[in-house]
Amino acid sequence: MQENYIKYNRIGVLEQDFAPTPIYPLSGKYSDNTIYMKRDDLIPFSFGGNKARKAAEFYREIVSLHPDVIMTYGSNSSNHCRIIANMAAAMGISCHIISPDEKAAGKNGRELYNSILVKQFGATVETCPVSAVAQTIEIRKNDYLKKGMLPYFIMGGGHGNCGTEAYVKTYDEILMQQQQMGLHFDGIFHASGTGTTQAGLVCGQLLRHADIPVIGISIARVNPRGKDAVRASIRDYLGDRFEELFDESLLNFTDQYICGGYGRYVQETENLIDTVMQTEGIPMDTTYVGKAFWGMIEYLREHAICGQKIVFIHTGGTPLFFDRIG
Ligand SMILES: *Cc1c(COP(=O)(O)O)cnc(C)c1O
Repeated sequence: MQENYIKYNRIGVLEQDFAPTPIYPLSGKYSDNTIYMKRDDLIPFSFGGNKARKAAEFYREIVSLHPDVIMTYGSNSSNHCRIIANMAAAMGISCHIISPDEKAAGKNGRELYNSILVKQFGATVETCPVSAVAQTIEIRKNDYLKKGMLPYFIMGGGHGNCGTEAYVKTYDEILMQQQQMGLHFDGIFHASGTGTTQAGLVCGQLLRHADIPVIGISIARVNPRGKDAVRASIRDYLGDRFEELFDESLLNFTDQYICGGYGRYVQETENLIDTVMQTEGIPMDTTYVGKAFWGMIEYLREHAICGQKIVFIHTGGTPLFFDRIG
């Protein structure tokens, strides 16, 4: 092991393959179906979530490339930025985050917890107008190179084949878990944002010729953009095998529950989040998980789906949960 990577043991769980996250049925009745929750929010790194799974894949690449600085971008509500800043701190590598100026605020105008955490992990946060983000990244990358430093760049939200790979593995994990549980799931639902998580799950289904459909509940993007992004990630990941394996009918990305865009939600979403908290003891945020959970329940009702076994992946976002309650 290289001397300057001596801090690797602080990364704990990212170093090995994850133990499968639990899947169990919810006790409350939210639908005419049995709803199971897969608790990716319980991944034991940086408050968990899908960005932790993705980070584990980037971690492997970072270990092999020995960069001097990890660069990424995202808003002040970004779970991805928090986890990358946490990972960089634990690895003893600098972290440089580029954020657009526009500011979402927490309760009573408070700074958002993800943003507070990024700073506490010691990352450099540079803000610029949203239109200048791409350009700023290029300039800073070149600045590091000129100084003789090697930057490692991660796309926003952990987008890219490493991120996709994380959820190909998760699809396999679900197949294994349903076998162990002696049952068959009829559908996998989750909050879909940049589309990487969904692309991974769909690639998992395609590569295994498996029959559990994946339904992404968009939390912001509308079609065709949303669907196109998922398809592009699938194409990127499958490469030459795309034409042979891809099936458009397996790409279910619904934009019916976005409630007007990123971060927006309706009163029913909050009510459902509170009910799940009281009934199951599971926290959900309004931007991703609670919104998608509410969207899934609406989807099942509107499509008159009943008597099925449905898995909902809790993709994390726990710090955002605290933003709502203050
Ligand atoms: C980023 C995020 C998502 C969406 O994942 P994508 O791979 O971008 O589609 C869902 N839930 C939470 C909590 C997230 O942070």
